[in-house]
Amino acid sequence: MILLLGLNRLMKSCLLFIPFLFLSILLVCNKSKTIEKQRGTTTESNSTSFDQKGTNMSEKIIKSEGEWQRLLTPEQYKITRKKGTEPPFAGKYNNFKEKGIFQCACCSNELFRSESKFDSGTGWPSFWESISEQNVKSIVDTSYGMIRTEVTCSRCDAHLGHVFDDGPPPSGLRYCINSAALKFMKRTEE
Ligand SMILES: [Zn+2]
Repeated sequence: MILLLGLNRLMKSCLLFIPFLFLSILLVCNKSKTIEKQRGTTTESNSTSFDQKGTNMSEKIIKSEGEWQRLLTPEQYKITRKKGTEPPFAGKYNNFKEKGIFQCACCSNELFRSESKFDSGTGWPSFWESISEQNVKSIVDTSYGMIRTEVTCSRCDAHLGHVFDDGPPPSGLRYCINSAALKFMKRTEE
């Protein structure tokens, strides 16, 4: 009997204890949920800032031949997508002296500053440096039996022209670029 009574008391105290246990479990669960939520928001904000950086800097532009053909003039298409060359002294930026930025005609990536443009006498717009090596890519070109360095837009792979090492100081480089591969943006803050 004594044993049974003892068991009974134990059961009662257990019954009282159960709601407390239940409540504490609930509290713990809620806490972990809020922590998960906080973690979720931090990772979300991290990924958005990464995406923003991506679009600002060098988001790659990939389009089909058909899409480029629809977006560009026949001349722009032939030069930028088919590695063509415009005739000398014929391009609109050969004898052009306005201040601003020359962008890629295909994707608006910034390529050259007017400050680095010089008159090379070759008949093509010439620059002694690009805006950055990240924006303008150099590739060895062995076509037509010559070893030349082709320059392309790093964002959309448009053919821009070639770079030679007979340019003026300080770089000694001459970026020989097709006008049709460029789009001029006048500087507005002046
Ligand atoms: Zn481009």
